[in-house]
Amino acid sequence: MEGTWVIDLDGVVWLAGEPIEGVSEAIAILRARDVRVAFATNNSAPTVAELLARLERAAIPSSPEDLVTSAQAAATLLEPGDSVLALADGGAREALVERGVTLVEEPPADAVVVGWTHDFTFDRLAVATRAVRGGARLIGTNEDPTHPTPEGLLPGSGALLAAVVTAAGREAQVAGKPHAAMIELVRRRHPDVRVVVGDRPSTDGLLARALKVPFALVLSGVTAPGDPVEPAADDTAADLLELVRSAS
Ligand SMILES: [Mg+2]
Repeated sequence: MEGTWVIDLDGVVWLAGEPIEGVSEAIAILRARDVRVAFATNNSAPTVAELLARLERAAIPSSPEDLVTSAQAAATLLEPGDSVLALADGGAREALVERGVTLVEEPPADAVVVGWTHDFTFDRLAVATRAVRGGARLIGTNEDPTHPTPEGLLPGSGALLAAVVTAAGREAQVAGKPHAAMIELVRRRHPDVRVVVGDRPSTDGLLARALKVPFALVLSGVTAPGDPVEPAADDTAADLLELVRSAS
């Protein structure tokens, strides 16, 4: 094998589930070069099966071992038997259950886990806040402020987490890129990373720095040409296909 490319999903492979042009060909080229592809996403909402179905629809057949998610990273911060109040969607809940924690809907809880969810109401915010004020650890699957879609940016998980942090008066431990739990999970599963490809320097770029590998920025997501890029990219391309072709 020629090592592993760690590739972000939102803004690199798709926008709100709609494949970005050329991604299927790009992944096929990499795999033909004997490169292992690992998709690392901060989106904790979809389950593994939902992510695999989306990849299949994008003509990128993949298996569970090809995925690393912030939901899985968050689960590593908990112990089997912990009680967890999840203000999060299916992907986070699935990873937590696999870890052996007990999901509860009311305080008390050992931890509150906040991830991206449509089901974010004042009442659920109040319940989560009450749990944290009662002593629960506060864990965010990720803190991305926005979520790219073809129509523009939607509020991300970070916006929801900020509401809980503000109301509870407590800082959160964050699991996803570029934080320690995700770095450790990627390292453990893929000791041979060659490059991190992403659209967001503050997550993908910092993950690359932590893994001490180059950061390849693609301009198909949240970063537009001319935007400030920190940390600096080692390579920049319009999209994944252009990047893969230039790396031949
Ligand atoms: Mg992205």
